[in-house]
Amino acid sequence: MLHITSLPQPHVYKTPQGTLQVMHIGHASLLLQLNNLVIYNDPYGEVADFTGFPKANLMLITHEHYDHLDIPELDKICIPTTTIIGTEAVAQALYGTNVLQNGDVFRWNDIVISAVPAYNIRHRRPDGEPFHPKGHGNGYILNIGGFRIYIAGDTEPIPEMSLITSPDIAFLPKDLPYTMSDDMFIEAARMLKPKTLYPYHYFTLDKVALQQALAGINLRTMVNG
Ligand code: ZN
Ligand code: ZN
Repeated sequence: MLHITSLPQPHVYKTPQGTLQVMHIGHASLLLQLNNLVIYNDPYGEVADFTGFPKANLMLITHEHYDHLDIPELDKICIPTTTIIGTEAVAQALYGTNVLQNGDVFRWNDIVISAVPAYNIRHRRPDGEPFHPKGHGNGYILNIGGFRIYIAGDTEPIPEMSLITSPDIAFLPKDLPYTMSDDMFIEAARMLKPKTLYPYHYFTLDKVALQQALAGINLRTMVNG
């Protein structure tokens, strides 16, 4: 469990629109800072107590599962001017959410945010329904003057990933039953060919084995979670 006093050092990237700091807080929780703009994805109280964290300028929520939409934590970092982006189901629980469907585009502070599909094909509940049905949740692509960050959401390798050619940074989820096995993770990464790849949403990680399977991709991690 992280606190504001125990945060890891962010990874720093140069974009055409300034300096980007990337922090994987744990599970699917990300803190991105572009110059002075603070962007979160799926802040989750199981991995950090967000008390005292910087207030959000932009809040991305991929879907309404409890490990992605955590209202008590959102209350700690959202302010009236926070732009919130989510799905239809997120908007039902979170007042003021801007709803994006798969394929929708939202412009925010010179960043172009695209909502992309995130869903299961192979892994299903006992009743046959996918854990994440197609069209329900979002992944997001943030385009910062041509520097592209892909946050995949809860998904398996899906054909739509082949359209996201070589993002600068990709966050891909790992671990069953809800997202990807190691083999699926490798399959997705080979389809995407990101420059830098962060596994996220995982419980276990064999970084050496993954890196061996993904020659040419810079695999980076920050925390165990
Ligand atoms: Zn989920
Ligand atoms: Zn999840």
